[in-house]
Amino acid sequence: MKDRILQEIKARVNRKSWELWFSSFDVKSIENNKVIFSVGNLFIKEWLEKKYHSVLIKAVKSILGNDASYELTFESFEPHVSYSEPLVKRKAVLLTPLNPDYTFENFVVGPGNSFAYHAALEVAKQPGRYNPLFIYGGVGLGKTHLLQSIGNYVVQNEPNLRVMYITSEKFLNDLVDSMKEGKLTEFREKYRRKVDILLIDDIQFLVGKTGVQTELFHTFNELYDSGKQIVICSDREPHMLKEFQDRLISRFQMGLVAKLEPPDEETRKNIAKKMLEIENGELPEEVLNFVAENVDDNLRRLKGAIIKLLVYKETTGKEINLREAVSLLRDFIKPREMKILDPMDELLDILSRIMGIPKEEILSSSRNVKAITARRVGMYVAKTYLKNSLRSIAEKFNRSHPVVADSVKRVKNSLLKGNRQLKSIIDEVVGELSRRALNG
Ligand code: ADP
Ligand code: MG
Repeated sequence: MKDRILQEIKARVNRKSWELWFSSFDVKSIENNKVIFSVGNLFIKEWLEKKYHSVLIKAVKSILGNDASYELTFESFEPHVSYSEPLVKRKAVLLTPLNPDYTFENFVVGPGNSFAYHAALEVAKQPGRYNPLFIYGGVGLGKTHLLQSIGNYVVQNEPNLRVMYITSEKFLNDLVDSMKEGKLTEFREKYRRKVDILLIDDIQFLVGKTGVQTELFHTFNELYDSGKQIVICSDREPHMLKEFQDRLISRFQMGLVAKLEPPDEETRKNIAKKMLEIENGELPEEVLNFVAENVDDNLRRLKGAIIKLLVYKETTGKEINLREAVSLLRDFIKPREMKILDPMDELLDILSRIMGIPKEEILSSSRNVKAITARRVGMYVAKTYLKNSLRSIAEKFNRSHPVVADSVKRVKNSLLKGNRQLKSIIDEVVGELSRRALNG
Protein backbone atom coordinates (compact mmCIF):
# COMPACT_ATOMS: atom_id res chain seq x y z
CA MET A 1 0.00 0.00 0.00
CA LYS A 2 2.75 2.45 0.95
CA ASP A 3 4.54 1.80 -2.31
CA ARG A 4 1.39 2.22 -4.32
CA ILE A 5 0.80 5.62 -2.79
CA LEU A 6 4.37 6.71 -3.45
CA GLN A 7 4.16 5.43 -7.03
CA GLU A 8 0.96 7.32 -7.52
CA ILE A 9 2.58 10.58 -6.38
CA LYS A 10 5.65 9.96 -8.46
CA ALA A 11 3.50 9.50 -11.54
CA ARG A 12 1.97 12.91 -10.95
CA VAL A 13 5.14 15.02 -10.72
CA ASN A 14 8.03 15.43 -13.10
CA ARG A 15 11.34 13.75 -12.44
CA LYS A 16 13.22 16.84 -11.39
CA SER A 17 10.58 17.82 -8.83
CA TRP A 18 10.47 14.28 -7.56
CA GLU A 19 14.18 14.27 -6.90
CA LEU A 20 14.17 17.74 -5.41
CA TRP A 21 11.18 17.60 -3.13
CA PHE A 22 10.49 13.96 -2.41
CA SER A 23 13.93 12.64 -1.55
CA SER A 24 13.27 12.67 2.18
CA PHE A 25 9.62 11.79 1.77
CA ASP A 26 7.97 8.62 2.97
CA VAL A 27 4.70 7.11 4.09
CA LYS A 28 4.94 6.78 7.83
CA SER A 29 1.62 5.16 8.51
CA ILE A 30 -1.96 4.90 7.35
CA GLU A 31 -4.60 5.32 10.02
CA ASN A 32 -8.35 5.38 9.43
CA ASN A 33 -8.01 6.34 5.81
CA LYS A 34 -5.53 9.05 6.65
CA VAL A 35 -2.03 8.84 5.29
CA ILE A 36 0.71 10.22 7.47
CA PHE A 37 3.70 11.26 5.40
CA SER A 38 7.03 12.01 6.98
CA VAL A 39 9.32 14.69 5.60
CA GLY A 40 12.91 15.13 6.71
CA ASN A 41 13.07 18.89 6.38
CA LEU A 42 10.80 21.62 7.71
CA PHE A 43 11.33 23.85 4.75
CA ILE A 44 10.42 21.10 2.30
CA LYS A 45 7.38 20.30 4.39
CA GLU A 46 6.21 23.89 4.09
CA TRP A 47 6.86 23.82 0.36
CA LEU A 48 4.97 20.58 -0.18
CA GLU A 49 2.00 21.92 1.76
CA LYS A 50 2.02 25.02 -0.36
CA LYS A 51 2.69 23.67 -3.80
CA TYR A 52 1.87 19.99 -3.82
CA HIS A 53 -1.32 19.83 -1.83
CA SER A 54 -3.47 19.02 -4.84
CA VAL A 55 -1.04 16.36 -6.08
CA LEU A 56 -0.93 14.71 -2.68
CA ILE A 57 -4.64 14.76 -2.02
CA LYS A 58 -5.45 13.41 -5.49
CA ALA A 59 -2.91 10.63 -5.18
CA VAL A 60 -4.19 9.64 -1.75
CA LYS A 61 -7.82 9.68 -2.86
CA SER A 62 -7.15 7.71 -6.00
CA ILE A 63 -5.72 4.87 -3.90
CA LEU A 64 -7.80 5.03 -0.74
CA GLY A 65 -11.07 6.48 -1.97
CA ASN A 66 -12.71 9.85 -1.81
CA ASP A 67 -12.87 10.30 1.94
CA ALA A 68 -9.16 9.74 2.37
CA SER A 69 -6.96 12.52 3.69
CA TYR A 70 -3.32 13.04 4.52
CA GLU A 71 -1.00 14.83 6.90
CA LEU A 72 2.65 15.82 6.67
CA THR A 73 4.87 15.40 9.70
CA PHE A 74 8.41 16.48 10.15
CA GLU A 75 10.91 13.82 11.07
CA SER A 76 14.55 14.58 11.16
CA PHE A 77 16.74 11.86 9.81
CA GLU A 78 19.90 13.84 9.29
CA PRO A 79 22.87 11.57 9.66
CA HIS A 80 25.00 12.31 12.67
CA VAL A 81 28.38 12.99 11.27
CA SER A 82 31.13 14.14 13.51
CA TYR A 83 34.10 15.86 12.12
CA SER A 84 37.02 17.61 13.71
CA GLU A 85 37.71 21.27 13.20
CA PRO A 86 40.70 22.00 11.03
CA LEU A 87 43.64 23.54 12.89
CA VAL A 88 43.80 26.56 10.68
CA LYS A 89 40.38 27.65 9.71
CA ARG A 90 40.15 28.68 6.11
CA LYS A 91 37.85 31.49 5.23
CA ALA A 92 35.69 31.60 2.16
CA VAL A 93 36.59 34.21 -0.38
CA LEU A 94 34.28 37.13 -0.08
CA LEU A 95 34.23 39.27 -3.15
CA THR A 96 32.19 42.12 -1.74
CA PRO A 97 31.80 43.25 1.85
CA LEU A 98 28.76 42.14 3.80
CA ASN A 99 27.14 43.72 6.79
CA PRO A 100 28.13 41.42 9.67
CA ASP A 101 24.82 42.11 11.44
CA TYR A 102 22.85 40.61 8.58
CA THR A 103 22.83 37.01 9.73
CA PHE A 104 20.22 34.31 10.13
CA GLU A 105 20.65 34.52 13.91
CA ASN A 106 19.69 38.19 13.82
CA PHE A 107 16.69 37.59 11.61
CA VAL A 108 13.44 37.26 13.55
CA VAL A 109 11.11 34.71 12.00
CA GLY A 110 7.35 35.24 11.90
CA PRO A 111 4.44 34.14 9.76
CA GLY A 112 5.13 36.70 7.01
CA ASN A 113 8.75 35.80 6.42
CA SER A 114 9.08 32.20 7.55
CA PHE A 115 9.05 30.67 4.10
CA ALA A 116 11.58 33.13 2.67
CA TYR A 117 13.78 32.64 5.73
CA HIS A 118 13.79 28.85 5.45
CA ALA A 119 14.32 28.98 1.72
CA ALA A 120 17.33 31.27 2.20
CA LEU A 121 18.71 29.06 4.95
CA GLU A 122 18.44 25.94 2.79
CA VAL A 123 20.13 27.73 -0.06
CA ALA A 124 22.96 28.72 2.27
CA LYS A 125 23.31 25.15 3.51
CA GLN A 126 23.16 23.55 0.07
CA PRO A 127 24.22 26.09 -2.53
CA GLY A 128 23.13 25.13 -6.02
CA ARG A 129 20.28 22.89 -4.99
CA TYR A 130 17.37 25.31 -5.18
CA ASN A 131 18.34 27.46 -8.07
CA PRO A 132 17.71 30.30 -8.46
CA LEU A 133 16.10 31.64 -5.31
CA PHE A 134 14.04 34.73 -5.98
CA ILE A 135 12.99 36.77 -2.93
CA TYR A 136 10.58 39.65 -3.28
CA GLY A 137 8.72 42.05 -1.02
CA GLY A 138 8.17 45.72 -0.20
CA VAL A 139 10.72 48.22 1.01
CA GLY A 140 12.31 47.48 4.36
CA LEU A 141 10.91 43.98 4.83
CA GLY A 142 14.28 42.27 5.12
CA LYS A 143 15.32 41.31 1.57
CA THR A 144 18.86 42.61 1.83
CA HIS A 145 19.17 41.17 5.33
CA LEU A 146 18.25 37.68 4.11
CA LEU A 147 20.38 37.93 1.00
CA GLN A 148 23.44 38.90 3.01
CA SER A 149 22.66 36.26 5.62
CA ILE A 150 23.21 33.68 2.91
CA GLY A 151 26.55 35.31 2.16
CA ASN A 152 27.62 35.48 5.79
CA TYR A 153 26.57 31.90 6.40
CA VAL A 154 28.54 30.58 3.47
CA VAL A 155 31.60 32.62 4.41
CA GLN A 156 31.46 31.06 7.86
CA ASN A 157 30.81 27.51 6.80
CA GLU A 158 32.08 26.87 3.31
CA PRO A 159 35.67 28.01 3.02
CA ASN A 160 35.94 26.82 -0.56
CA LEU A 161 33.19 28.91 -2.00
CA ARG A 162 33.47 32.37 -3.47
CA VAL A 163 30.57 34.61 -2.55
CA MET A 164 29.62 37.76 -4.35
CA TYR A 165 26.98 40.20 -3.16
CA ILE A 166 26.10 42.99 -5.54
CA THR A 167 23.27 45.38 -6.24
CA SER A 168 22.01 45.34 -9.79
CA GLU A 169 22.96 48.99 -9.99
CA LYS A 170 26.56 48.15 -9.24
CA PHE A 171 26.42 45.37 -11.81
CA LEU A 172 25.24 47.90 -14.38
CA ASN A 173 27.91 50.47 -13.51
CA ASP A 174 30.57 47.83 -13.58
CA LEU A 175 29.44 46.71 -17.00
CA VAL A 176 29.41 50.26 -18.34
CA ASP A 177 32.89 50.96 -16.97
CA SER A 178 34.27 47.73 -18.40
CA MET A 179 32.89 48.53 -21.81
CA LYS A 180 34.39 52.03 -21.74
CA GLU A 181 37.77 50.67 -20.79
CA GLY A 182 37.60 47.79 -23.23
CA LYS A 183 37.63 45.26 -20.41
CA LEU A 184 34.53 43.27 -21.16
CA THR A 185 36.45 40.03 -21.02
CA GLU A 186 37.59 40.74 -17.47
CA PHE A 187 34.05 41.67 -16.53
CA ARG A 188 32.73 38.36 -17.79
CA GLU A 189 35.51 36.44 -16.19
CA LYS A 190 34.70 38.10 -12.86
CA TYR A 191 30.96 37.44 -12.88
CA ARG A 192 30.74 34.19 -14.73
CA ARG A 193 33.84 32.29 -13.69
CA LYS A 194 35.12 33.57 -10.39
CA VAL A 195 31.89 33.24 -8.45
CA ASP A 196 30.24 30.26 -6.80
CA ILE A 197 27.36 32.14 -5.25
CA LEU A 198 26.01 35.28 -6.82
CA LEU A 199 23.70 37.40 -4.69
CA ILE A 200 22.01 40.15 -6.70
CA ASP A 201 20.04 42.78 -4.83
CA ASP A 202 17.29 45.10 -6.09
CA ILE A 203 16.94 43.64 -9.54
CA GLN A 204 14.02 46.00 -10.26
CA PHE A 205 16.61 48.68 -10.90
CA LEU A 206 17.22 47.08 -14.29
CA VAL A 207 13.65 47.57 -15.48
CA GLY A 208 13.79 48.95 -19.02
CA LYS A 209 17.58 48.58 -19.29
CA THR A 210 17.74 46.03 -22.05
CA GLY A 211 21.47 45.98 -22.68
CA VAL A 212 22.45 45.06 -19.18
CA GLN A 213 19.61 42.53 -19.05
CA THR A 214 21.17 40.69 -21.95
CA GLU A 215 24.49 40.59 -20.14
CA LEU A 216 22.75 39.38 -17.00
CA PHE A 217 20.94 36.69 -18.97
CA HIS A 218 24.21 35.22 -20.17
CA THR A 219 25.78 35.54 -16.74
CA PHE A 220 22.81 33.74 -15.30
CA ASN A 221 22.98 30.91 -17.82
CA GLU A 222 26.65 30.32 -17.41
CA LEU A 223 26.45 30.21 -13.63
CA TYR A 224 23.32 28.13 -13.67
CA ASP A 225 24.69 25.59 -16.10
CA SER A 226 27.74 25.04 -13.95
CA GLY A 227 25.57 24.54 -10.87
CA LYS A 228 26.45 27.83 -9.22
CA GLN A 229 23.86 29.33 -6.87
CA ILE A 230 22.06 32.51 -7.84
CA VAL A 231 19.87 34.50 -5.47
CA ILE A 232 17.91 37.52 -6.59
CA CYS A 233 16.00 40.12 -4.63
CA SER A 234 13.31 42.34 -6.02
CA ASP A 235 10.59 44.66 -4.81
CA ARG A 236 8.03 42.85 -6.99
CA GLU A 237 7.42 39.35 -8.21
CA PRO A 238 9.06 38.17 -11.43
CA HIS A 239 6.17 38.66 -13.83
CA MET A 240 5.62 42.17 -12.49
CA LEU A 241 9.06 43.19 -13.73
CA LYS A 242 7.57 44.97 -16.70
CA GLU A 243 9.91 45.75 -19.56
CA PHE A 244 12.11 42.86 -18.53
CA GLN A 245 13.05 40.34 -21.14
CA ASP A 246 10.68 37.41 -20.95
CA ARG A 247 13.51 34.92 -21.11
CA LEU A 248 15.03 36.51 -18.00
CA ILE A 249 11.73 36.49 -16.15
CA SER A 250 11.26 32.83 -16.91
CA ARG A 251 14.76 32.15 -15.58
CA PHE A 252 13.78 33.90 -12.35
CA GLN A 253 10.74 31.67 -12.04
CA MET A 254 12.63 28.45 -12.60
CA GLY A 255 13.56 27.82 -9.00
CA LEU A 256 12.10 28.98 -5.74
CA VAL A 257 10.11 32.17 -5.50
CA ALA A 258 9.59 33.44 -1.96
CA LYS A 259 7.58 36.42 -0.83
CA LEU A 260 8.25 38.61 2.20
CA GLU A 261 5.07 39.93 3.78
CA PRO A 262 4.84 42.77 6.28
CA PRO A 263 5.34 41.50 9.82
CA ASP A 264 2.42 41.18 12.21
CA GLU A 265 2.46 43.05 15.48
CA GLU A 266 3.99 40.22 17.51
CA THR A 267 6.83 39.80 15.02
CA ARG A 268 7.41 43.56 14.88
CA LYS A 269 7.80 43.59 18.64
CA ASN A 270 10.33 40.79 18.48
CA ILE A 271 12.19 42.54 15.68
CA ALA A 272 12.26 45.75 17.71
CA LYS A 273 13.77 43.81 20.63
CA LYS A 274 16.33 42.23 18.36
CA MET A 275 17.31 45.61 16.92
CA LEU A 276 17.74 46.99 20.41
CA GLU A 277 19.90 44.03 21.31
CA ILE A 278 22.08 44.55 18.24
CA GLU A 279 22.48 48.23 19.10
CA ASN A 280 23.34 47.25 22.66
CA GLY A 281 20.66 49.59 23.93
CA GLU A 282 17.87 49.53 26.43
CA LEU A 283 14.48 51.19 26.39
CA PRO A 284 11.49 50.83 28.71
CA GLU A 285 9.15 48.08 27.61
CA GLU A 286 6.20 50.42 27.06
CA VAL A 287 8.31 52.67 24.85
CA LEU A 288 9.51 49.75 22.77
CA ASN A 289 5.96 48.47 22.44
CA PHE A 290 4.79 51.88 21.38
CA VAL A 291 7.45 51.95 18.69
CA ALA A 292 6.64 48.45 17.45
CA GLU A 293 2.92 49.16 17.36
CA ASN A 294 3.03 52.53 15.66
CA VAL A 295 5.97 52.80 13.31
CA ASP A 296 4.94 51.74 9.82
CA ASP A 297 5.78 48.42 8.15
CA ASN A 298 9.09 49.51 6.73
CA LEU A 299 11.54 47.97 9.19
CA ARG A 300 14.25 50.37 8.23
CA ARG A 301 12.10 53.07 9.76
CA LEU A 302 11.54 50.93 12.82
CA LYS A 303 15.28 50.75 13.21
CA GLY A 304 15.61 54.49 12.56
CA ALA A 305 13.06 55.18 15.30
CA ILE A 306 14.89 52.99 17.80
CA ILE A 307 18.21 54.62 17.01
CA LYS A 308 16.71 58.07 17.34
CA LEU A 309 15.47 57.21 20.83
CA LEU A 310 18.81 55.71 21.82
CA VAL A 311 20.71 58.75 20.62
CA TYR A 312 18.34 61.01 22.49
CA LYS A 313 18.76 58.91 25.60
CA GLU A 314 22.52 59.03 25.31
CA THR A 315 22.71 62.77 24.79
CA THR A 316 20.29 63.64 27.60
CA GLY A 317 21.61 60.96 29.89
CA LYS A 318 18.20 59.94 31.17
CA GLU A 319 15.61 57.30 30.46
CA ILE A 320 12.94 58.11 27.91
CA ASN A 321 9.32 57.98 28.93
CA LEU A 322 6.38 57.29 26.71
CA ARG A 323 5.35 60.89 26.31
CA GLU A 324 8.81 61.93 25.12
CA ALA A 325 8.92 58.97 22.76
CA VAL A 326 5.60 59.97 21.23
CA SER A 327 6.77 63.48 20.51
CA LEU A 328 10.23 62.44 19.31
CA LEU A 329 8.77 59.99 16.84
CA ARG A 330 6.18 62.18 15.18
CA ASP A 331 7.76 61.66 11.76
CA PHE A 332 7.92 57.91 12.13
CA ILE A 333 4.35 57.15 12.99
CA LYS A 334 2.27 55.48 10.35
CA PRO A 335 -0.84 57.29 9.31
CA ARG A 336 -3.88 55.31 10.27
CA GLU A 337 -7.44 55.71 9.24
CA MET A 338 -9.29 56.52 12.39
CA LYS A 339 -12.37 58.53 12.78
CA ILE A 340 -11.61 61.63 14.74
CA LEU A 341 -13.43 61.43 18.01
CA ASP A 342 -14.04 64.14 20.50
CA PRO A 343 -10.88 64.01 22.67
CA MET A 344 -13.07 63.67 25.75
CA ASP A 345 -14.71 60.56 24.26
CA GLU A 346 -11.29 59.19 23.43
CA LEU A 347 -10.32 59.83 27.01
CA LEU A 348 -13.28 57.89 28.36
CA ASP A 349 -12.58 55.09 25.95
CA ILE A 350 -8.96 54.87 27.10
CA LEU A 351 -9.90 55.03 30.79
CA SER A 352 -12.39 52.26 30.33
CA ARG A 353 -9.83 50.06 28.63
CA ILE A 354 -6.99 50.73 31.05
CA MET A 355 -9.10 50.38 34.19
CA GLY A 356 -11.07 47.47 32.80
CA ILE A 357 -14.53 48.87 33.53
CA PRO A 358 -17.29 50.07 31.22
CA LYS A 359 -17.62 53.76 30.37
CA GLU A 360 -21.09 53.82 31.85
CA GLU A 361 -19.67 52.85 35.18
CA ILE A 362 -17.16 55.68 35.09
CA LEU A 363 -19.98 58.12 34.43
CA SER A 364 -22.30 56.56 37.00
CA SER A 365 -22.25 57.12 40.75
CA SER A 366 -20.56 53.77 41.39
CA ARG A 367 -18.27 53.72 44.46
CA ASN A 368 -16.13 50.94 43.04
CA VAL A 369 -12.49 51.93 43.63
CA LYS A 370 -11.62 51.53 39.97
CA ALA A 371 -14.54 53.69 38.93
CA ILE A 372 -13.54 56.40 41.39
CA THR A 373 -9.94 56.35 40.21
CA ALA A 374 -10.94 56.37 36.54
CA ARG A 375 -13.29 59.28 37.15
CA ARG A 376 -10.71 61.36 39.00
CA VAL A 377 -7.90 60.60 36.57
CA GLY A 378 -10.24 61.44 33.71
CA MET A 379 -11.15 64.82 35.17
CA TYR A 380 -7.53 65.59 35.95
CA VAL A 381 -6.33 64.71 32.45
CA ALA A 382 -9.22 66.59 30.86
CA LYS A 383 -8.26 69.67 32.86
CA THR A 384 -4.47 69.64 32.71
CA TYR A 385 -3.78 67.99 29.36
CA LEU A 386 -6.85 68.56 27.24
CA LYS A 387 -7.33 72.02 28.77
CA ASN A 388 -11.05 71.65 29.12
CA SER A 389 -12.98 74.05 31.30
CA LEU A 390 -14.33 72.82 34.62
CA ARG A 391 -17.80 73.46 33.30
CA SER A 392 -17.45 71.21 30.26
CA ILE A 393 -15.81 68.49 32.34
CA ALA A 394 -18.65 68.66 34.83
CA GLU A 395 -21.12 68.25 32.01
CA LYS A 396 -19.32 65.32 30.47
CA PHE A 397 -18.84 63.47 33.75
CA ASN A 398 -22.32 64.22 35.10
CA ARG A 399 -20.86 65.89 38.15
CA SER A 400 -21.16 69.29 39.74
CA HIS A 401 -18.57 71.99 39.21
CA PRO A 402 -17.15 71.82 42.79
CA VAL A 403 -16.86 68.03 42.64
CA VAL A 404 -14.72 68.31 39.52
CA ALA A 405 -12.51 70.99 41.09
CA ASP A 406 -12.13 68.85 44.19
CA SER A 407 -11.23 65.72 42.19
CA VAL A 408 -8.58 67.53 40.17
CA LYS A 409 -7.08 68.88 43.38
CA ARG A 410 -7.02 65.45 45.00
CA VAL A 411 -5.15 63.96 42.07
CA LYS A 412 -2.63 66.82 42.11
CA ASN A 413 -2.00 66.30 45.80
CA SER A 414 -1.56 62.56 45.43
CA LEU A 415 0.96 63.14 42.68
CA LEU A 416 2.83 65.65 44.83
CA LYS A 417 3.00 63.05 47.58
CA GLY A 418 4.61 60.70 45.09
CA ASN A 419 1.78 58.27 44.40
CA ARG A 420 3.54 56.22 41.75
CA GLN A 421 0.67 53.97 40.91
CA LEU A 422 -1.51 56.94 40.09
CA LYS A 423 1.30 58.51 38.11
CA SER A 424 1.75 55.43 35.99
CA ILE A 425 -1.97 55.27 35.21
CA ILE A 426 -1.92 58.90 34.14
CA ASP A 427 1.20 58.38 32.03
CA GLU A 428 -0.46 55.51 30.27
CA VAL A 429 -3.64 57.46 29.62
CA VAL A 430 -1.75 60.48 28.35
CA GLY A 431 0.54 58.35 26.21
CA GLU A 432 -2.39 56.67 24.55
CA LEU A 433 -4.16 60.01 24.07
CA SER A 434 -1.17 61.58 22.33
CA ARG A 435 -0.75 58.52 20.20
CA ARG A 436 -4.34 58.70 19.02
CA ALA A 437 -4.15 62.44 18.50
CA LEU A 438 -1.10 61.93 16.29
CA ASN A 439 -2.78 59.26 14.25
CA GLY A 440 -6.14 60.93 13.98
P1 ADP B 1 14.86 45.53 2.27
O1 ADP B 1 16.14 45.12 1.65
O2 ADP B 1 13.74 44.55 2.04
O3 ADP B 1 14.43 46.93 1.89
P2 ADP B 1 16.37 45.36 4.70
O4 ADP B 1 16.90 43.99 4.55
O5 ADP B 1 17.31 46.48 4.40
O6 ADP B 1 15.04 45.54 3.85
O7 ADP B 1 15.78 45.51 6.17
C1 ADP B 1 15.58 46.77 6.80
C2 ADP B 1 16.04 46.70 8.23
O8 ADP B 1 15.20 45.83 8.97
C3 ADP B 1 17.45 46.13 8.39
O9 ADP B 1 18.07 46.82 9.45
C4 ADP B 1 17.22 44.68 8.77
O10 ADP B 1 18.28 44.20 9.58
C5 ADP B 1 15.94 44.78 9.55
N1 ADP B 1 15.11 43.56 9.44
C6 ADP B 1 14.28 43.25 8.43
N2 ADP B 1 13.65 42.09 8.68
C7 ADP B 1 14.10 41.65 9.87
C8 ADP B 1 13.81 40.52 10.68
N3 ADP B 1 12.93 39.58 10.31
N4 ADP B 1 14.45 40.40 11.86
C9 ADP B 1 15.33 41.34 12.25
N5 ADP B 1 15.63 42.44 11.55
C10 ADP B 1 15.02 42.61 10.36
MG1 MG C 1 17.37 46.12 0.28
